[in-house]
Amino acid sequence: MKKFVTAVMLLSLLCSLIIGTGSGAAAAATTVPKLFLNGERLQTPVDPRFVDQYTFVPVRIVSESLGFKVEWAGKNVNISNGSNKIVLTLNSKTAVVNDREVTLDAPPFADKSTTLVPLRFVSQQLGLSVYWEKETQSVHLYQQESPKSPEEGSGSTGSGETGHNPDDAGALGTLSSITFDGISSVYLPYSGDISKIETQVLHNTERFVVDLRNTVMDSGLTANLENGQSSIAIDTHPSFTGIRYSNFKDKPTTVRIVLDFSAETPVNIVQEDGYIRLDVLEPGSVVVPPPVTTPGKDKPSNGKFKVVIDAGHGAHDSGATANGKVEKEFNLALVLKIKALLDQEPQIQPYFTREDDTFVELMDRAKFANDLGADIFVSVHGNKATPTATGTETYYTRDNSKALADVLHKHLLKATGLKDRKVKPAGFVVTKYTKMPAVLLEVGFLSNKTDVEIMFSEEKQNEIAREIVAGIKEYLKVS
Ligand SMILES: [Zn+2]
Repeated sequence: MKKFVTAVMLLSLLCSLIIGTGSGAAAAATTVPKLFLNGERLQTPVDPRFVDQYTFVPVRIVSESLGFKVEWAGKNVNISNGSNKIVLTLNSKTAVVNDREVTLDAPPFADKSTTLVPLRFVSQQLGLSVYWEKETQSVHLYQQESPKSPEEGSGSTGSGETGHNPDDAGALGTLSSITFDGISSVYLPYSGDISKIETQVLHNTERFVVDLRNTVMDSGLTANLENGQSSIAIDTHPSFTGIRYSNFKDKPTTVRIVLDFSAETPVNIVQEDGYIRLDVLEPGSVVVPPPVTTPGKDKPSNGKFKVVIDAGHGAHDSGATANGKVEKEFNLALVLKIKALLDQEPQIQPYFTREDDTFVELMDRAKFANDLGADIFVSVHGNKATPTATGTETYYTRDNSKALADVLHKHLLKATGLKDRKVKPAGFVVTKYTKMPAVLLEVGFLSNKTDVEIMFSEEKQNEIAREIVAGIKEYLKVS
């Protein structure tokens, strides 16, 4: 099963929950959203539902679960907890909250003997944060007095208290490590089940906060904690400066991961096969869309296409390591085989960011290709995740790279014979800051026994190199 949630998508989904569209309403008629409160599925007497443009939830079950009393008085529903009092009136858009009139998006209505109220009103008035999980069509409501973030936790009741010996009651998943790949992805491999993920985008000091509910850290991670938190500094990304993480005694127990940025930076979350990956894109402000180039149209002046092949990592930056193998060695071995083939191509002039075990900065790799005025850029990498993750994937960032990604992926997949993990957009430095069509190939997983065997087989490497070259030629329309 694959889950894909982006921060942007999350926002747009929330908007579509609230705003909706004509076509959405038609589709929604058959969809019953599941309702969760603090990670617990609420058994509702009638189904939550999309009506017109709004998501409606049964108000009694939500309120009572939060300790409010719900009483009927004629057409009114009184919701109170001693300090707060909300009066709703059936079929009226006006409610009274602590003696103040509030306008609802849409009037509450009754189904059987249950009152349904727009979700947004419930979340706002009862102090809940809302998280919509598209894959499972679930609405997650969380009480906001959930974990204090590490930076807010200064002082006596702060992080010193949380984090130590987290109460693992309710833990369903165990986070085993937090690893940055040096480019743009943070890997969070885990065992068990992590199905409740809550994210927040915070500004001022730019942060992306990920709360993994019902989750604890394994002993390797908790060993790093000092005063309940730990951090990882990052200096290889234009805006991503570090990761902080902490474990909260909370209901449910929660691992919080905070990504710190020096500028507003979008993040994609991908969850699959026992790991969560946070893809940190480039800060939007610095990106100027490059001109779209059409391959095979304008012959280069010397009659040769400039093709840059980038062997990922190098020297002290070994890339992924798993199963006794090192990614930088795979990348270089494959690239040298590609070189041997490209050197024989009369219409292609190949260039290489590295041809031995040296280190090149990511931005310098992009600059190298840009300065050359290269026609295409291909970066070669190996992947790492949990042992079960397998397959071949191809990344691109800019629209002008999608066609190259599609062609190369087709060939690459043919050679590896591994699971098709598809062509995907992501904000790698080398695919973003290059100007020409640029792709990043994740040939297979070093962390997977089958993949790594293929990746380090001489015969297979030759086949993969042949297919990559065939893909380059197909794309450039050279014979
Ligand atoms: Zn890599």
